[in-house]
Amino acid sequence: MTLVINNVSLPSRKDNKQQLCTVICKDSQIDEIIYGPSDLPIDSPDVVNGNGDARLCHSHVHLDKCNILDECDELVSGSFQEALELTSKVKASYTYESLVSRGRHLIVESIKYGVTAMRAHVEVDRTVQFKGLDAGLRLKEEFKDLCDIGLAVFAQDPFFISPSDTEPSDNYILFQKAAGRQGISAVGSAPYVEPSTLHARRNIDYVFELALENRLHIDFHLDYNLDPNASPMIHYVIDLARKSRWTERMKGKHITIGHAPRLCLFTPEEFKQLQDAIDDLPITFVGLPQTDMYMLGREEHIKPRGTLHVPNMVKKYGLNVAMSINNIGNAFTPQGSADPLALCAFGVAIFQTGLPNDCEILFDSVSNTSKRAVGVRCGESLVIRKGDPADLIIVHGNNSIQSLVLSPSFERTVIKNGRVISSRRIIDVIDPTSFLLGHLM
Ligand SMILES: [Zn+2]
Repeated sequence: MTLVINNVSLPSRKDNKQQLCTVICKDSQIDEIIYGPSDLPIDSPDVVNGNGDARLCHSHVHLDKCNILDECDELVSGSFQEALELTSKVKASYTYESLVSRGRHLIVESIKYGVTAMRAHVEVDRTVQFKGLDAGLRLKEEFKDLCDIGLAVFAQDPFFISPSDTEPSDNYILFQKAAGRQGISAVGSAPYVEPSTLHARRNIDYVFELALENRLHIDFHLDYNLDPNASPMIHYVIDLARKSRWTERMKGKHITIGHAPRLCLFTPEEFKQLQDAIDDLPITFVGLPQTDMYMLGREEHIKPRGTLHVPNMVKKYGLNVAMSINNIGNAFTPQGSADPLALCAFGVAIFQTGLPNDCEILFDSVSNTSKRAVGVRCGESLVIRKGDPADLIIVHGNNSIQSLVLSPSFERTVIKNGRVISSRRIIDVIDPTSFLLGHLM
């Protein structure tokens, strides 16, 4: 099957930003790029007319606790503890059907924004057991031609219930069973929920053991604080990766570190040490600014707030840093949409930069860096090339990466495996002559 994308600009071609191109996709790959205008008709069903390209990926999204705000008790304090309690209460009422339905809605919304790959977290614990995982597996199969869904079995709850526990609870036993299931690609946890630092380390040990045993990626929620006195756990993860000879034994498998706002407090020397310690380890940080900015730094004395500074970490220290949406419509992140490009625009304000180079870093963080972090095949750079997978979006109305990041268009055509899978255009129904001057209520 051949798909011709006509009249498109490839804005990351720095030598000639506005040059229009024709991109020909054949057999799920980009087969040819012709620079200059084409005389192919633009209304042919196999021709997509547009100006802008992107490849988007959620490197971190919770499939099983999306859009549950309406089912939660009312938010009172907005604190993390309250979010945990409200979410746990809703979790107890999850059914397989409700999980499939909500997850499906999130995936469809994401695809319309241009997301063709995602790492989806599904929690496994004594409350929800395998319901989220089973729903995730069904959705992965259902959407296999439209979106690469990598499932991460995730422990949001602690393995150890009380500070005196020396053996893990059934939360861990269930997690261990889930890690052996067919069809999952990662295991992950939130060690900070454990009752002590010692237990948090054991949590990390267990996740490493299961990842090595089942050849899975690792995905931690780590260093989720802005406390200068809290010892960063990232060093323990790096030490364990070295001790387990991860690079040699786990080729193609990655370790992702979500949140980690504690790193915002690092001095340049500490960042340099981190860079040296990571060296060739396949570690990618995943900034989750929607949640971090909403949830952390509520105490008067901690302000200002913080989230991983994506452009600086990439430019100054050469670290791999992706960015993702994390949650949609729940007590941890009640605001925001599933649009990774909206996240980029948010990043411009948080990181206080709209420079072209920084916009490219932000865009890369929700596209290629995100795909690499979760082990999905992608092109080598933002410039599409012959032989790349034909997974693209055309963002109609944006003609450079800077414009995509600063003000992303709503109108998008999404292409997966060389086939148009979604097209969203605005139909302007406003008739200016019918307006009366005054306020619309
Ligand atoms: Zn998360």
